[in-house]
Amino acid sequence: MSDVLVLCYHAVSEDWPAPLSVTPDALERQLSLLARHGFRGVTLTSALADPPAERVVAVTFDDAYRSVRELAWPILNRLGMVGSVYVPTDWPERTEPMRWPGIDQWIGGPHEAELAGMGWAELGELADAGWEIGSHTRSHPRLPELDDDRLDYELAGSREACEAGLGRRCDTLAYPYGAVDERVLRAADRARYRYAVTLPQALHSPAPLHWPRVGIYHADTRWRFALKVSPAARRLRSSPVWSAIDGVRRRVRGI
Ligand SMILES: [Zn+2]
Repeated sequence: MSDVLVLCYHAVSEDWPAPLSVTPDALERQLSLLARHGFRGVTLTSALADPPAERVVAVTFDDAYRSVRELAWPILNRLGMVGSVYVPTDWPERTEPMRWPGIDQWIGGPHEAELAGMGWAELGELADAGWEIGSHTRSHPRLPELDDDRLDYELAGSREACEAGLGRRCDTLAYPYGAVDERVLRAADRARYRYAVTLPQALHSPAPLHWPRVGIYHADTRWRFALKVSPAARRLRSSPVWSAIDGVRRRVRGI
Protein backbone atom coordinates (compact mmCIF):
# COMPACT_ATOMS: atom_id res chain seq x y z
CA MET A 1 0.00 0.00 0.00
CA SER A 2 1.31 3.46 -0.87
CA ASP A 3 2.41 5.38 2.20
CA VAL A 4 4.48 8.60 2.23
CA LEU A 5 5.97 9.59 5.56
CA VAL A 6 7.83 12.90 5.87
CA LEU A 7 9.88 13.33 9.05
CA CYS A 8 11.49 16.53 10.33
CA TYR A 9 14.72 16.40 12.32
CA HIS A 10 17.21 19.15 13.09
CA ALA A 11 20.52 18.35 14.84
CA VAL A 12 22.14 15.08 15.96
CA SER A 13 24.35 14.97 19.04
CA GLU A 14 25.49 12.60 21.77
CA ASP A 15 24.99 15.13 24.54
CA TRP A 16 23.21 18.31 23.39
CA PRO A 17 20.01 18.38 25.49
CA ALA A 18 18.18 20.76 23.11
CA PRO A 19 14.64 19.68 22.13
CA LEU A 20 15.66 19.90 18.46
CA SER A 21 18.57 17.47 18.84
CA VAL A 22 18.34 13.67 18.81
CA THR A 23 21.11 11.24 19.73
CA PRO A 24 22.73 9.10 17.02
CA ASP A 25 21.36 6.03 18.83
CA ALA A 26 17.81 7.37 18.75
CA LEU A 27 18.07 8.31 15.08
CA GLU A 28 19.44 4.89 14.17
CA ARG A 29 16.78 3.09 16.20
CA GLN A 30 13.98 5.20 14.69
CA LEU A 31 15.06 4.83 11.07
CA SER A 32 15.87 1.13 11.53
CA LEU A 33 12.34 0.58 12.80
CA LEU A 34 10.99 2.17 9.62
CA ALA A 35 13.38 0.15 7.44
CA ARG A 36 12.20 -3.05 9.13
CA HIS A 37 8.65 -2.04 8.30
CA GLY A 38 9.52 -1.72 4.63
CA PHE A 39 10.07 2.04 4.34
CA ARG A 40 12.62 3.14 1.72
CA GLY A 41 14.42 6.40 2.56
CA VAL A 42 14.25 8.81 -0.40
CA THR A 43 14.53 12.55 -1.00
CA LEU A 44 11.50 14.76 -0.49
CA THR A 45 11.10 15.32 -4.23
CA SER A 46 11.23 11.58 -4.95
CA ALA A 47 8.72 10.88 -2.21
CA LEU A 48 6.23 13.47 -3.44
CA ALA A 49 6.82 13.44 -7.21
CA ASP A 50 6.82 9.70 -7.80
CA PRO A 51 3.89 8.37 -5.80
CA PRO A 52 5.32 5.13 -4.53
CA ALA A 53 3.85 1.70 -4.93
CA GLU A 54 4.97 1.01 -1.40
CA ARG A 55 6.22 2.77 1.71
CA VAL A 56 8.68 5.65 1.49
CA VAL A 57 10.07 7.97 4.12
CA ALA A 58 11.58 11.39 3.39
CA VAL A 59 13.99 12.08 6.26
CA THR A 60 14.42 15.87 6.34
CA PHE A 61 16.81 17.96 8.44
CA ASP A 62 16.21 21.68 8.97
CA ASP A 63 18.93 24.33 9.52
CA ALA A 64 21.84 22.33 7.96
CA TYR A 65 23.73 21.62 11.18
CA ARG A 66 27.20 20.19 10.63
CA SER A 67 26.18 17.27 12.86
CA VAL A 68 23.87 16.04 10.10
CA ARG A 69 26.85 15.37 7.87
CA GLU A 70 28.99 14.01 10.69
CA LEU A 71 26.48 11.83 12.54
CA ALA A 72 23.28 11.39 10.52
CA TRP A 73 24.83 10.74 7.12
CA PRO A 74 26.68 7.54 8.19
CA ILE A 75 23.49 6.20 9.80
CA LEU A 76 21.33 6.84 6.74
CA ASN A 77 24.10 5.36 4.58
CA ARG A 78 24.12 2.14 6.57
CA LEU A 79 20.36 1.87 6.10
CA GLY A 80 20.56 2.61 2.37
CA MET A 81 18.64 5.87 2.83
CA VAL A 82 19.20 9.40 1.57
CA GLY A 83 17.90 12.52 3.30
CA SER A 84 17.00 16.12 2.54
CA VAL A 85 18.58 19.20 4.16
CA TYR A 86 17.10 22.71 4.34
CA VAL A 87 19.77 25.40 4.54
CA PRO A 88 19.34 29.05 5.57
CA THR A 89 21.52 30.35 2.74
CA ASP A 90 23.02 33.34 4.59
CA TRP A 91 25.01 30.87 6.72
CA PRO A 92 27.15 28.45 4.65
CA GLU A 93 29.77 31.11 3.94
CA ARG A 94 30.10 32.18 7.58
CA THR A 95 32.27 30.56 10.22
CA GLU A 96 30.50 31.71 13.39
CA PRO A 97 27.76 29.61 15.03
CA MET A 98 24.29 29.96 13.50
CA ARG A 99 21.93 32.07 15.56
CA TRP A 100 18.28 33.10 15.47
CA PRO A 101 15.49 33.16 18.06
CA GLY A 102 14.96 29.59 19.22
CA ILE A 103 18.61 28.48 19.13
CA ASP A 104 20.55 31.56 20.24
CA GLN A 105 20.16 30.70 23.92
CA TRP A 106 22.91 28.10 23.33
CA ILE A 107 25.45 30.76 22.28
CA GLY A 108 28.20 31.19 24.86
CA GLY A 109 27.47 27.91 26.64
CA PRO A 110 29.13 24.50 26.59
CA HIS A 111 27.07 23.34 23.58
CA GLU A 112 27.76 26.35 21.33
CA ALA A 113 29.74 24.20 18.88
CA GLU A 114 26.50 22.33 18.06
CA LEU A 115 25.33 25.48 16.25
CA ALA A 116 27.97 25.06 13.53
CA GLY A 117 26.39 24.98 10.10
CA MET A 118 27.58 23.21 6.98
CA GLY A 119 29.49 25.10 4.29
CA TRP A 120 28.66 24.77 0.61
CA ALA A 121 31.41 22.15 0.15
CA GLU A 122 29.90 19.92 2.85
CA LEU A 123 26.39 20.39 1.46
CA GLY A 124 27.77 19.59 -1.98
CA GLU A 125 29.17 16.30 -0.66
CA LEU A 126 25.73 15.30 0.55
CA ALA A 127 24.18 16.35 -2.76
CA ASP A 128 26.79 14.27 -4.64
CA ALA A 129 25.74 11.30 -2.48
CA GLY A 130 22.14 11.65 -3.64
CA TRP A 131 20.75 13.85 -0.86
CA GLU A 132 18.49 16.77 -1.71
CA ILE A 133 19.46 20.27 -0.58
CA GLY A 134 16.61 22.75 -0.33
CA SER A 135 16.10 26.26 0.97
CA HIS A 136 15.28 27.25 4.54
CA THR A 137 15.13 30.93 3.42
CA ARG A 138 18.14 33.23 3.72
CA SER A 139 18.05 34.33 7.37
CA HIS A 140 15.48 32.05 9.07
CA PRO A 141 12.72 34.62 9.78
CA ARG A 142 9.08 33.99 10.62
CA LEU A 143 7.83 34.50 7.08
CA PRO A 144 4.25 35.64 7.87
CA GLU A 145 5.73 38.67 9.66
CA LEU A 146 7.56 39.98 6.56
CA ASP A 147 6.32 42.46 3.96
CA ASP A 148 6.02 41.30 0.34
CA ASP A 149 9.43 42.62 -0.79
CA ARG A 150 11.20 40.96 2.09
CA LEU A 151 9.28 37.71 1.46
CA ASP A 152 10.53 37.63 -2.14
CA TYR A 153 14.06 38.41 -0.96
CA GLU A 154 13.97 35.50 1.48
CA LEU A 155 12.29 32.99 -0.84
CA ALA A 156 13.54 33.78 -4.35
CA GLY A 157 16.84 35.04 -2.94
CA SER A 158 17.59 31.84 -1.04
CA ARG A 159 16.71 29.74 -4.03
CA GLU A 160 19.21 31.67 -6.15
CA ALA A 161 21.87 31.51 -3.42
CA CYS A 162 21.40 27.75 -3.02
CA GLU A 163 21.65 27.18 -6.78
CA ALA A 164 24.77 29.39 -6.98
CA GLY A 165 26.36 27.69 -3.96
CA LEU A 166 25.82 24.14 -5.18
CA GLY A 167 25.50 24.41 -8.95
CA ARG A 168 22.25 22.43 -8.75
CA ARG A 169 18.56 23.21 -8.90
CA CYS A 170 16.86 24.15 -5.64
CA ASP A 171 13.21 23.22 -5.95
CA THR A 172 12.19 22.64 -2.36
CA LEU A 173 11.69 24.79 0.71
CA ALA A 174 11.10 24.30 4.43
CA TYR A 175 9.30 27.20 6.13
CA PRO A 176 11.29 28.32 9.22
CA TYR A 177 9.38 27.38 12.39
CA GLY A 178 6.86 25.80 10.00
CA ALA A 179 5.27 29.27 9.95
CA VAL A 180 3.18 29.87 6.83
CA ASP A 181 -0.02 31.62 5.76
CA GLU A 182 -1.83 32.26 2.47
CA ARG A 183 0.40 35.19 1.53
CA VAL A 184 3.56 33.16 2.20
CA LEU A 185 2.17 30.32 0.06
CA ARG A 186 1.68 32.75 -2.83
CA ALA A 187 5.24 34.04 -2.40
CA ALA A 188 6.62 30.46 -2.43
CA ASP A 189 4.70 29.90 -5.65
CA ARG A 190 6.11 33.15 -7.15
CA ALA A 191 9.60 31.93 -6.27
CA ARG A 192 8.81 28.77 -8.30
CA TYR A 193 9.32 26.22 -5.57
CA ARG A 194 7.96 22.82 -6.48
CA TYR A 195 7.46 21.50 -2.94
CA ALA A 196 7.48 23.19 0.46
CA VAL A 197 7.12 21.59 3.86
CA THR A 198 5.53 22.69 7.13
CA LEU A 199 5.86 21.52 10.72
CA PRO A 200 2.32 21.61 12.08
CA GLN A 201 1.01 20.68 15.52
CA ALA A 202 -1.84 18.85 13.83
CA LEU A 203 -1.20 17.23 10.45
CA HIS A 204 -3.18 19.08 7.80
CA SER A 205 -4.18 17.79 4.40
CA PRO A 206 -1.17 17.90 2.05
CA ALA A 207 -0.61 20.23 -0.90
CA PRO A 208 2.66 20.63 -2.88
CA LEU A 209 3.59 23.94 -1.21
CA HIS A 210 2.02 23.03 2.14
CA TRP A 211 3.16 19.51 2.96
CA PRO A 212 2.99 18.47 6.62
CA ARG A 213 5.92 16.76 8.35
CA VAL A 214 6.06 14.78 11.56
CA GLY A 215 8.58 16.55 13.85
CA ILE A 216 10.87 14.26 15.87
CA TYR A 217 12.49 15.68 19.00
CA HIS A 218 14.79 14.88 21.91
CA ALA A 219 11.90 13.74 24.10
CA ASP A 220 10.59 11.20 21.59
CA THR A 221 11.06 7.91 23.33
CA ARG A 222 10.80 4.62 21.50
CA TRP A 223 7.04 4.31 21.97
CA ARG A 224 6.33 7.97 21.23
CA PHE A 225 8.19 7.68 17.92
CA ALA A 226 6.35 4.48 17.02
CA LEU A 227 3.07 6.19 17.86
CA LYS A 228 3.89 9.34 15.87
CA VAL A 229 4.72 7.44 12.68
CA SER A 230 1.95 4.87 12.88
CA PRO A 231 -0.64 5.27 10.10
CA ALA A 232 -3.47 5.28 12.64
CA ALA A 233 -1.87 8.10 14.64
CA ARG A 234 -1.16 10.08 11.48
CA ARG A 235 -4.78 9.73 10.42
CA LEU A 236 -5.88 10.85 13.87
CA ARG A 237 -3.48 13.79 13.87
CA SER A 238 -4.87 15.02 10.58
CA SER A 239 -8.43 14.93 11.87
CA PRO A 240 -10.36 17.69 13.67
CA VAL A 241 -10.38 15.42 16.73
CA TRP A 242 -6.63 15.86 17.10
CA SER A 243 -6.86 19.65 16.86
CA ALA A 244 -9.36 19.53 19.69
CA ILE A 245 -7.16 17.21 21.79
CA ASP A 246 -4.05 19.24 21.06
CA GLY A 247 -5.83 22.48 21.88
CA VAL A 248 -6.84 21.10 25.27
CA ARG A 249 -3.32 19.76 25.90
CA ARG A 250 -1.76 23.10 25.10
CA ARG A 251 -4.23 24.96 27.29
CA VAL A 252 -3.46 22.55 30.13
CA ARG A 253 0.29 22.99 29.69
CA GLY A 254 -0.05 26.72 29.21
CA ILE A 255 1.80 26.79 25.87
ZN1 LIG B 1 14.80 26.02 11.15
